Amino acid sequence: MANRSCIIRLSRYKNALNRLKGLNFVRVFSDNLADAAGVTAAQVRKDFSLFGITGNRRGGYKVEELADQLNRILGKNQLHEFIVIGVGNIGRALLHYPGFERSGIDVAAGFDIDPAKYNPQSQPPVLPLEQLGELIKTRDIKLAILAVPDYAAQQVLELVLSAGIKGVLNFAPICLKAPPGCIVNNINLETEIENLIYFINAAENRK
Ligand code: NAD
Repeated sequence: MANRSCIIRLSRYKNALNRLKGLNFVRVFSDNLADAAGVTAAQVRKDFSLFGITGNRRGGYKVEELADQLNRILGKNQLHEFIVIGVGNIGRALLHYPGFERSGIDVAAGFDIDPAKYNPQSQPPVLPLEQLGELIKTRDIKLAILAVPDYAAQQVLELVLSAGIKGVLNFAPICLKAPPGCIVNNINLETEIENLIYFINAAENRK
C-alpha cells in the first residue's frame, strides 16, 4: 500500500513529465524524473514498481504511456468537484483560482456563515450552510476545503462529514482528526514556515 509521501512523489513525477512532454520528449528515464522530483532514480523505480509500472533499462519509459498511467493512479482522468467552506481571504482565492480547472479540479460552490458573503449568482456561487447537504447529495461531492477560523473548524468538519464528504483539506491551524472512512489533510502554513526558518538557521549556523 502506497503512503502519503509516495503519492506526493507521484504528483511530482507527473508534473515533471508534463514539462518534459511540453519539450517534446518521447521517452524519459528514471534519472530525468528523479532530478525533477529531488529523489534518487532508485526511489522512482521503487515507487513505480508499487503500481506495476515498469520501464526498460535501455529505452526508459514512454512519456505518453507513463503520463496516462500516473494520471489514472492520481484520479486525473476525471473531473473532481470540491466545495470550499469559509469564503474569506483563503476561501475567496481558492474559489477563483483559474489553475484548478487545468488540473481537473472544479470548485462547485463556496459556503459561509456570514450572509454578507452569499452570492448565489456568482460563478462558483457562495451559498448559506443550510444548502450544503443538498448540493453534496445532488452532485455526489466527496471533497471539501475548510478555510474557516480555527474555533469553527471542528464543528464545520463534523457538518461536512455528516453530509457525505469523504476527503477534507483543512487550512485552519488546528490538527483535525478524521473518523474511520474519511481522510483529513491538515495544511498548517505557520508550521511549514517555522520548518523553513529552522532549517535555514541550522544551515547558517553550520557555516
Ligand atoms: P478569514 O477570516 O478571512 O475567513 C474566514 C471565513 O470563514 C469568513 O468568511 C467567515 O465568515 C467564515 N466562517 C466563520 N465561521 C464559519 C462557520 N462556522 N461556517 C462557515 N463559514 C464560517 O480567514 P482566512 O484568512 O481566509 O483564513 C482561513 C483559515 O486559514 C484560518 O483558520 C486561518 O487561521 C488559516 N490561515 C490563513 C492564512 C492567510 O494567509 N489568510 C495563513 C495561514 C493560515
